[in-house]
Amino acid sequence: MTLKIHQFPARSDNYGVLIHDTETGMTASIDAPEVSAIKQALDAKGWRLTHILNTHHHQDHTEGNAALKEETGCEIIGPLGEAAKIPALDHQVGEGDMFRLGNFDVQVLETPGHTLGHISYFIPEAKVAFVGDTMFAMGCGRVFEGSHEMMWNSLAKLRALPADTSVYVGHEYTQANAEFALTIEPDNAALKARAAEVDALRGQDKPTLPTTIAKELATNPFVRACEPEVKAALGMPDAADWQVFGEIRTRKDNA
Ligand SMILES: [Zn+2]
Repeated sequence: MTLKIHQFPARSDNYGVLIHDTETGMTASIDAPEVSAIKQALDAKGWRLTHILNTHHHQDHTEGNAALKEETGCEIIGPLGEAAKIPALDHQVGEGDMFRLGNFDVQVLETPGHTLGHISYFIPEAKVAFVGDTMFAMGCGRVFEGSHEMMWNSLAKLRALPADTSVYVGHEYTQANAEFALTIEPDNAALKARAAEVDALRGQDKPTLPTTIAKELATNPFVRACEPEVKAALGMPDAADWQVFGEIRTRKDNA
């Protein structure tokens, strides 16, 4: 049983991702950032689109829904909490829901904060998660609709996934995130090493993603807001995890 995954650039800094079950032919697009980029990727792979999985309502994640559905007849699955804002949605899913995609079970995690209904998808058998704009490599999405506490709880949920889970995210913001992360933890050796790696990849115009939960646990200051060394670095040893997260998020917003 094999789930093939194809990541490709879309729009200016989004990533498109196609997943394909070789046994059943199921092919899903994670979000729908740019119709032409997605169609090109499908053609290149020789895959026929059967599903779209939306993570949240933002236009750069849903703009291809209607056109791709019209052209392919694909089914569109997306967040319960944002159904009214997502075009052409067929199935609404929320926390704890599980559905079958090809031969794989997909678990739904609600990860609100960036938007109020944002969801992430986890496929345990393939050890892969699609987290949209909740978490980025060494970063996280802006907290547009929720609160800092809500976003922290969402990151804490992702923290709890198996460490070897591959994580696909919505945007290539890694290099700027690494630079910011170093202002929070200048002495974090794993972070320094990863920042150098990322500079080398971007220097060759290569993607820095997917990431893994293990890498984020070691280098992502937002995900590490609960760690004593991060609290100490910010002079907030006794603050709640979400407050430390909020301080880091505020600094990044103002950077
Ligand atoms: Zn977004």
